[in-house]
Amino acid sequence: MIPVQFDYVAPATLAEAIGLLSEHQDEAKLLAGGHSLIPAMKLRLAQPSLLIDIGRIRDLAYITEDGGQIRIGAMTTHYQIESNARLKEICPLLPECAAAIGDVQVRNKGTIGGSLAHADPAADWPAAILALDAEMVVVSPQGERVINASDFFVDMLTTALEPNEILREIRITQPPGKAVQSYMKVAQPASGFAVVGVAVNLIRGDDGRCQSASIGITGVAAKAYRASGVESSLKGSTLDEQAITSAASHAADNVDANADIFASADYRRHLAEVYTRRAIQSAVAKL
Ligand SMILES: Cc1cc2nc3c(=O)[nH]c(=O)nc-3n(C[C@H](O)[C@H](O)[C@H](O)COP(=O)(O)OP(=O)(O)OC[C@H]3O[C@@H](n4cnc5c(N)ncnc54)[C@H](O)[C@@H]3O)c2cc1C
Repeated sequence: MIPVQFDYVAPATLAEAIGLLSEHQDEAKLLAGGHSLIPAMKLRLAQPSLLIDIGRIRDLAYITEDGGQIRIGAMTTHYQIESNARLKEICPLLPECAAAIGDVQVRNKGTIGGSLAHADPAADWPAAILALDAEMVVVSPQGERVINASDFFVDMLTTALEPNEILREIRITQPPGKAVQSYMKVAQPASGFAVVGVAVNLIRGDDGRCQSASIGITGVAAKAYRASGVESSLKGSTLDEQAITSAASHAADNVDANADIFASADYRRHLAEVYTRRAIQSAVAKL
């Protein structure tokens, strides 16, 4: 299908993009990698009259470190994160999650900012971003504000972004050296999207017990969530098989699971439990 007619602008600076979005608001859409927006436009699920292509703004794609924080520009592609040697060292969950997204073409064009702003319930990034307690830096004519990952995802395809706001940067506190991480997913065979995706970020204390556990789960519900029941069950445990299996049984506690042609709600809940167990086991194996 061909999208309805639209105008197209490609601002060279972020300031220009902010001005354009502010002027046109709901009639306009930002275009990042286009890998979610263009299919939505072809299906007429989105019909913006103006596309603001932020792909020409050079200083929106970067991976840097600053004062113990990892900073990732919103236009950084999945592939740039997947292939970043420093991230593999200091925060392997990010490249691991990036590598699990779609296929090579999708990872070469799709951006972390576009994925987070789109908030697809089956997207991979939200699980990792929640498990890492990331902060989203967003800009508008009113200036800059920071939104915690736990407040960012509001509902299916809905975030805390206002219509005149642009996601500029994702900030992650560098995990301590003793943190171990893992991302595991069941991929929808046709698209690669997560039927269930589980991101684990664990720290073991000097006493050998779990000091902290952050678990983000995507694909199961309308929006990705932190599996707080799993986290509290793991905390203080010895991270043995019994503790992991028992903690993972809380993966879908109080969750209204999605059902579709590929997986019923019960099957998704089951997969959430199984893959939470496997993702924790995989993280613990790195200790
Ligand atoms: C065949 C295929 C397979 C895929 N498989 C997977 C998969 O396995 N896992 C997965 O997670 N994803 C998958 N995707 C989605 C892919 O990761 C997309 O790239 C991503 O969801 C959107 O990123 P984008 O840069 O393409 O954003 P776009 O499509 O350009 O934009 C998406 C939305 O976000 C808004 N937006 C973009 N950037 C910003 C910003 N900086 N601030 C505010 N709003 C913004 C846009 O206006 C639009 O509404 C797949 C896509 C395709 C086509």
